[in-house]
Amino acid sequence: MIAQRTLDHSIRCSGIGLHSGRKIQLILHPSAEDTGITFIRSDLGIKIPATSAHVTDTRLCTTIGNAETSISTVEHLLSALAGLGVDNARIEVSGPEVPIMDGSSAPFVFLIQCAGIREQGKAKKVMRMLKRVEVSDGDKRCALYPAAGFKIGYLLDYDHPLLRNRRVEVDFSHQAYTREISRARTFGFLHEIEALQKAGLALGGSLENAIVLDTHRVVNEGGLRYEDECVRHKILDTLGDLSLAGMPIVGAFEGERTGHEMNHLLVEALLADPSSYRIEELKLDHSEAAEVSGEQVQPA
Ligand SMILES: [Zn+2]
Repeated sequence: MIAQRTLDHSIRCSGIGLHSGRKIQLILHPSAEDTGITFIRSDLGIKIPATSAHVTDTRLCTTIGNAETSISTVEHLLSALAGLGVDNARIEVSGPEVPIMDGSSAPFVFLIQCAGIREQGKAKKVMRMLKRVEVSDGDKRCALYPAAGFKIGYLLDYDHPLLRNRRVEVDFSHQAYTREISRARTFGFLHEIEALQKAGLALGGSLENAIVLDTHRVVNEGGLRYEDECVRHKILDTLGDLSLAGMPIVGAFEGERTGHEMNHLLVEALLADPSSYRIEELKLDHSEAAEVSGEQVQPA
């Protein structure tokens, strides 16, 4: 059996919110089997499960919420949890967004590794893709389709000399999330950041937590962490957004020019068609184990 995983103990950190510029406390706690990832606005005492049904905004980042409140920029922390195979955790956030840290998920990976990861008594559940699910809008498209293991391919294609027609594929059966993806920072264009800040957004944004590009080059003095860091960040975001399906996916993702909105529409299309996947307990090993065991778990 491949067991569900949670944190070994609680751990905290603080950082700045990208959009509010406010200091925010974050505490990660262990959580029981089959509880999934749940966020709590600790300043309000309101719980918000990290599921696609709770996504309320996907314009600048992924926001989850309910009628009362919301939490923004959940995707990098969700990506770290998914990348490290954490199924269950309770996450307290003291304000309206998860701190941006350095713009990547590496600080969250470090935090989770410091807390330690503990295996639990029940088998990990996965969604195995049985057929292709696709969404598109003009030249933007993304799809999930059947494949052994889990991989993400992404094509970035902006009208910018560094970001034209760049594709990266990461097969997580062979390539480590922490090394290949987690250090990739979010990115933005100088003129867009100036416009956002005039509109009272991205107030916490700086060269400390984003790659900033002007019309020709990277503005950050230290340059890039990976040659194709921006594409890798799109893969980081995608992993976090896909985790809102509620469990890991066995299959492949291919995206072209997409972002949080299309990722969300894809997860909604997946969940709307129960014939497109099968929920299985993961046994033996991570690749074709569930097929070997043949055991099926009906969707909740
Ligand atoms: Zn991002």
